[in-house]
Amino acid sequence: MVPKVLVADSVHPELFERLKECACVEVVQNLSQETLIQRVRDADILVVRGRTRVTEDVIKAAGRLKAIVRAGVGIDNVDLKAAMERGIYVLNAAEASADSVAELTIGLMIALARKIPFLNESMRQGLWPKDMGLGTELRGKTLGIVGLGRIGSRVARVAKAIGMKVLAYDPYVSKERALKLGVELVDFETLLRSSDFVSLHVPLTTETWRLIGERELQLMKPSAFLINTARGGIVDEEALERALRRGRLAGAALDVFEVEPPPPGKGLLSLDNVIMTPHIGGFTVEAQERIASCITEDIIRVIRGEEPRNRVELPKEGRERIEEGV
Ligand code: NAD
Repeated sequence: MVPKVLVADSVHPELFERLKECACVEVVQNLSQETLIQRVRDADILVVRGRTRVTEDVIKAAGRLKAIVRAGVGIDNVDLKAAMERGIYVLNAAEASADSVAELTIGLMIALARKIPFLNESMRQGLWPKDMGLGTELRGKTLGIVGLGRIGSRVARVAKAIGMKVLAYDPYVSKERALKLGVELVDFETLLRSSDFVSLHVPLTTETWRLIGERELQLMKPSAFLINTARGGIVDEEALERALRRGRLAGAALDVFEVEPPPPGKGLLSLDNVIMTPHIGGFTVEAQERIASCITEDIIRVIRGEEPRNRVELPKEGRERIEEGV
């Protein structure tokens, strides 16, 4: 019997091209939970992006399912525990978009330091706002990286090449790894107090929920910038807005939000020193191609009964990922 691959969100066409020889690929979109439960019953592989929620009910209904594949990184939308209890692989493409997110992070840092969006907008309005365009260099400044994993490490390497001093807070990373990257591991409070730029690269877990709130923003230099390309929910957006309005922080750049898209009229949208992008960190031609190729290879392995390469493990206790509900 030809295995069925149910694709429940849009993915790169390479996946269909390469799977057509060995599987029947069915593409659906914007399914309700009830319809997904119906459609997944005879599927061998389920492919999703961030929008489709693979709940325990979906997993229970999927009698033949061998793998749930997240075409991307975060697996906040998949009930990992329920899948693993049933021996279903959960796979993702964690490395595939790391360079894209790191590059966006550096781009946002430069855009903040040189006020690029504000100046661009002013010129479009017929102004020549040179007097307001005094910026700062990145070279010689201190970058504090929270989470020295795949993306955090890449950001560190580029920042070092620019001439920044790099600090990192990550209680799960070894001193040797930090040393290799030329990064100084410090405690969270030291990082917040000493950095000119604080960039977040942690997963959203019970531990990192609202990691940056009122207290942490108070510890940062008033001249500092905050960048979040990790996950909404790690930053308390209301506290951030208050800090920016009171001049407690120079600016912020956000690619991710607690609610996506953020509701219209939300305070942060009206601030000149905030840059926002619509969760496009990993959304580049190259990352999308790498994701498609990485997950296709793993799907073929599962279909052939081989061990897949990109299995997601259950997080350690206390570091459970938070379901985003999107
Ligand atoms: P990773 O797992 O490789 O690295 C995360 C690091 O955070 C690890 O080193 C881990 O030890 C550390 N960490 C965990 N809990 C921590 C805590 N409480 N305090 C400090 N450090 C902690 O993850 P990654 O692939 O580098 O991804 C980082 C973030 O970027 C994730 O939130 C991911 O969802 C997000 N992301 C966003 C986009 C986007 O489009 N904007 C795309 C890809 C990934």
